[in-house]
Amino acid sequence: MALLINDNCTACDACKPVCPNEAIAVGDPVYVINASRCTECVGAEDEPQCQLVCPADCIDPDPACKESKDELMAKYHSLH
Ligand code: SF4
Ligand code: SF4
Repeated sequence: MALLINDNCTACDACKPVCPNEAIAVGDPVYVINASRCTECVGAEDEPQCQLVCPADCIDPDPACKESKDELMAKYHSLH
């Protein structure tokens, strides 16, 4: 499952540089996660790095993007 940034985002830019998949982009008004690049950090880290650093606690699972851990790992390998 990819993650989704909600409207509480303050555009602080903390999340973008920590994403191992370059999945986060500057949006207007809130930052945006590219679901085709987000692996929930599977393949790179033990937990989603964007959620760890977000001071606004505004990054949630995207219910429209349900993927198994194996699928997330395959996505990670296809990106790198
Ligand atoms: S969960 Fe990981 S891969 Fe997905 S957007 Fe956040 S930092 Fe990037
Ligand atoms: S860390 Fe959180 S508040 Fe900051 S830009 Fe990313 S999603 Fe928005």
